[in-house]
Amino acid sequence: MLLDRYGIQETHYEVLNVKEDANYTEIRAGYRSAALSLHPDKLLKTPETSSSDQTTGERFLRVQKAWEVLSDSSSRSSYDNELKSSRRDRDALAAEVAEDLSLHDMIAEDADEALELFYQCRCGDYFSIDSLELQKMGYSLFREGSNISILNVDTLPGSVILPCGSCSLKARLVLSTDDH
Ligand SMILES: [Zn+2]
Repeated sequence: MLLDRYGIQETHYEVLNVKEDANYTEIRAGYRSAALSLHPDKLLKTPETSSSDQTTGERFLRVQKAWEVLSDSSSRSSYDNELKSSRRDRDALAAEVAEDLSLHDMIAEDADEALELFYQCRCGDYFSIDSLELQKMGYSLFREGSNISILNVDTLPGSVILPCGSCSLKARLVLSTDDH
């Protein structure tokens, strides 16, 4: 599983249910059985199609896309490089993210035009972000008394990485519809 900005993403290898070092023949076999399992004749009821809310059409496109990329040796090798580097980024980020926070955890303070959100880091300084920065990322804050929520729920769920003002730790502000 790969984490991207939006959550968890399946790799092309997982889509075809093959190992990452599979050879062409194995990949082709994986593609055939994945495509076959999505064949309309077999779809009457397959309860184990686990990938939650994907429709068969979406699933089929993913299988098709995975095959296109993995069946060609040059596109496969550039995809492998992408996988490697996004895993490196994810691991580097995970090592530095000290906490997951929700909007409720944040201390809010009015600052000029914006609303500033804080959370204390273990070093004593603060993770912080203001409503203008959040707006630039597509999240409009809505404040009602002491209750802060995200106005445009269509952007949810999402998350924003907040750096500490002093040390190298980061916090992840998780924005979800639960904040409503
Ligand atoms: Zn710190």
